Amino acid sequence: MAQRKQYDQAIVIGGSVGGIFAARVLADFFDRVTIVESEHLSSDAKQRKNIPQGNHAHTLLIRGGRLINQYFPGTIDRLVAAGAVPVDMGHDIRWHHFGGWKAHWDDDMIGTFLSRPLVESELASAIKRFPNIEIREQTKAESLIVNEGENRVQGIRIQNKNGECEEIRGDLVIDTTGHNSLTLQQLKSENIPFDEVPIKVSYASRIYRQPTSLPPWKVLMIAQGAPSKRAGVIFPLEGGRWIATLGAYAGEAPPKTHDEFMAVARALPVPDLYRAISEAEPMSDVTTYRFPRDIRHRYDKLKNPLGGLVVLGDALCRLNPLYGQGMAAVAVESDLLRELVQKWSKTGEAFSPAFSRKYFKQAIKRTSPAWQGATLEDLRFFKDEVDLPLSTRIQQWYTRRMHLAAIDSPEVSKTFYRVANLLDPPTDLFKPSIAARVLTHGSATTEGLEIREPATSAS
Ligand SMILES: Cc1cc2nc3c(=O)[nH]c(=O)nc-3n(C[C@H](O)[C@H](O)[C@H](O)COP(=O)(O)OP(=O)(O)OC[C@H]3O[C@@H](n4cnc5c(N)ncnc54)[C@H](O)[C@@H]3O)c2cc1C
Repeated sequence: MAQRKQYDQAIVIGGSVGGIFAARVLADFFDRVTIVESEHLSSDAKQRKNIPQGNHAHTLLIRGGRLINQYFPGTIDRLVAAGAVPVDMGHDIRWHHFGGWKAHWDDDMIGTFLSRPLVESELASAIKRFPNIEIREQTKAESLIVNEGENRVQGIRIQNKNGECEEIRGDLVIDTTGHNSLTLQQLKSENIPFDEVPIKVSYASRIYRQPTSLPPWKVLMIAQGAPSKRAGVIFPLEGGRWIATLGAYAGEAPPKTHDEFMAVARALPVPDLYRAISEAEPMSDVTTYRFPRDIRHRYDKLKNPLGGLVVLGDALCRLNPLYGQGMAAVAVESDLLRELVQKWSKTGEAFSPAFSRKYFKQAIKRTSPAWQGATLEDLRFFKDEVDLPLSTRIQQWYTRRMHLAAIDSPEVSKTFYRVANLLDPPTDLFKPSIAARVLTHGSATTEGLEIREPATSAS
């Protein structure tokens, strides 16, 4: 017979990456964890209706990949066996950024490139192997059950797959329902404070069969940086495919047809992406997506947050997808949840408002590097409309110089990759050896910069 755990029942609403991560963490402390998911979670890598972002390029940052392997050992190997592509981050990526190619560097940082449906199906299969995790699929959470007197969430009301209403009671409820979060809908009248940058990003993506003669890169990224609004990437996918995604900032419309897609690709500052897709066979039509804003909900600022409730993933903080941080942020928040529940379980206390307050404060702190990194870049598009604080303008000035220095310096380039992959804190970009290169770098502007081949550690 299984040994009793510290707590009885946890409820996780949403069965995407956030829900699966949260459930995995809680399974070590609760006798039973119930995931409530409105769709069917397939073990085949299929596109889901509620995850439209699955049609677009997805990268798994190194920090996210490491946390996946920590909680679901062997996952990265299984993904690679299923066709995911290992990428030597220092050499296999060709990244044109701020007017030049980022320098190559040596290290053992290996990224994994694959489709979003493959990540989801692998995680869904992994979570189904836990005996104390129950998944209620095709079941919609309708509302939180709140005990007003104790200011605590005590469970949820659901509509099960037969259309019947039920209640599930639990010690802790985790909302991972994404950007249309159930908690926000229910607490509308509370006016939860939020931070936002209305960046209005658009995506257009198309899948291609890889050509037989491959270019000298596995991943291609082209982003000129503000004020240029267009960016483009090609990522490898399982099954010998490529996904080409054209992104745009600040309200630019996405291309919708073959001709529009090719025209936008052709207008990128370097021809590499256009050339590559011109020689590859399309396997899909163009799919589009619009992302309105970076937003984080400041439950941490509530004087009296509801006890027994945690909000995690996009439901808490939704970041510009062009920086690929969403899944890693989910993993970081889940890791925090594990730490706090472990601490709490030692005292035997219930999940009071004090627990929720602690979680929300720490979650904002730990996702702050991702938020700062994304919004610092996004705010460049608002320099004529918003009076940015001096500290933001200084950081933007510095990071622009840092990107220019990363064209020539393998050390600066590698440090940036490590920070962008959430492995090291942003303060590493300011450490003396990097600052010296950034501040003495000759060019502070991309104008007139000739396009050169990436520098390497040896150059
Ligand atoms: C175009 C695009 C590209 C992106 N690219 C990347 C990338 O390259 N790398 C990266 O890391 N991130 C990327 N992201 C972000 C990433 O997709 C999200 O951060 C991540 O999916 C968040 O996971 P989540 O579990 O919090 O929410 P979601 O993935 O949105 O999942 C929410 C889940 O809750 C379920 N649900 C909702 N309401 C209910 C309810 N009432 N009852 C039951 N179930 C419910 C839904 O069916 C769904 O399964 C991208 C996002 C977009 C839009």
